[in-house]
Amino acid sequence: MQKIENYINGELIAPSSGNYIDNIEPATGKIYSLVPESNDKDLETAIVAAEAAKETWANTSLEKRAEILSKLADLIDENAEELAKAEAIDNGKAVTFAKAVDVYRSSANIRFFAQAGTQFASESHAMGNLAINYTLRDPIGIVGCISPWNFPLYLFTWKIAPALACGNVVIAKPSEVTPMTAYLFSKLCIEAGLPAGVLNILHGTGPSIGAPITTHPKIKAISFTGGSSTGAHITKATAGMFKKLSLELGGKNPTLVFADCDFKETVNEVVRAAFSNQGQICLCGSRIYIERPIYEKFKAAFVSQVNSLRIGDPLDEQTQHGATVSKSHMEKVLSYIELAKEEGGTILTGGKRAKVQGRCQDGFFIEPTVIEGLNNQCRTNQEEIFGPVCTLMPFDNETEAVTLANGTQYGLASSVWTNDLKRAHRVAKNIEAGIVWINCWLLRDLRTPFGGVKSSGVGREGGLEAMRFFTEPKNVCIKY
Ligand code: NAD
Repeated sequence: MQKIENYINGELIAPSSGNYIDNIEPATGKIYSLVPESNDKDLETAIVAAEAAKETWANTSLEKRAEILSKLADLIDENAEELAKAEAIDNGKAVTFAKAVDVYRSSANIRFFAQAGTQFASESHAMGNLAINYTLRDPIGIVGCISPWNFPLYLFTWKIAPALACGNVVIAKPSEVTPMTAYLFSKLCIEAGLPAGVLNILHGTGPSIGAPITTHPKIKAISFTGGSSTGAHITKATAGMFKKLSLELGGKNPTLVFADCDFKETVNEVVRAAFSNQGQICLCGSRIYIERPIYEKFKAAFVSQVNSLRIGDPLDEQTQHGATVSKSHMEKVLSYIELAKEEGGTILTGGKRAKVQGRCQDGFFIEPTVIEGLNNQCRTNQEEIFGPVCTLMPFDNETEAVTLANGTQYGLASSVWTNDLKRAHRVAKNIEAGIVWINCWLLRDLRTPFGGVKSSGVGREGGLEAMRFFTEPKNVCIKY
């Protein structure tokens, strides 16, 4: 059985406790590797390594840092096939999706921030003839990066790349549910010549190693992506410690389809928005509001398109819809489908565990599920399900659509489908979300602010926002 190792001080090492947890392949339900159960002791070893590397990395030239990061991005591209396969096995996602989205974006993230580091400028404020202010933006020191399982390498690199580009040293924790690509990545770090201690990757569960990272006094900033309840927990655990916190949390994203949309393209894209990665994307549009005159027509076309999604072995290149990430997650999603029925919903398609023959017969597959007949206030429409489940609801006018869209505690992303330019601008302005896509979904420019409002998070990632988060501004005021 393959044992994943921690990456500390430039070396791959076993956890100090000698304890491991099972790593299960979601498509088969079988244990296929072991994950270190790291603890405070491993964290202390990593902190010592990070402390020793801190000053040198902060003083390494921007060009040199960019060179090492670019080499890492190149190595990801060179190993794209292996990484995509590893992601498909570890997470259950379709291998073609893993290659086109996860692996592609992982190297893009690193390449983007390698360049951003060399372009990042700080501010200057002149006070007439009196004085000039300039702002230094220094690395923070040791920062913690904690990431979830839905885009294991993609979201991992989305955090560590800006942190490293800004000259910080990093203690990172990937999800214990999908640790494999972070482990393969640590080997690429060694190959790329990343100096020892600059990045340390500790594997294990939230309680065993995530929580100690968030509360360690030497870790001055935490960049976290995960569930809103974990985000709330981290906020409480770090209260009074004066750490910088960036929290990218859950979503329950609305999709607003107006009658004047480009019908065919909208159906295609709204299906993609609901079911990509088995609905396990924080940005997935799971509440779909449709203007009443086209409701029935849209419903029929939407359900027909959903029924054409190919469910199967994630390693089969024809597969579009793979397994959900774990047994417990599958059971949670299935329990929400039962809840939707109890709440009066009608299942239009899907609604149960999917059976895939052969090596995947015990896998955690769920049929893409579409539900109608629910009101906006029911739990199915209020709570994040994070699986292949969406609801359809009609609306009568723009005001109602916006009210429905804003009617949850979340505010991460949204999409609006219309050919009325004025309405598009109005709705975009009035939606409570960090991201509004008009006539598109998941079209990403890495320079734009990324994150949510309300229970979907605090702070923004992406572009300059990330560079600002991972640096400490110091203003210097000089009197003439
Ligand atoms: P999770 O909150 O359970 O875990 C996320 C990470 O936090 C994991 O590495 C986990 O081990 C760690 N963790 C758990 N408890 C911890 C603690 N007490 N202290 C420190 N770390 C702890 O989330 P998940 O189930 O892995 O991911 C799914 C969630 O992530 C969904 O809610 C989804 O919407 C959200 N998500 C948000 C974004 C975004 O950008 N807003 C992106 C992807 C996923």
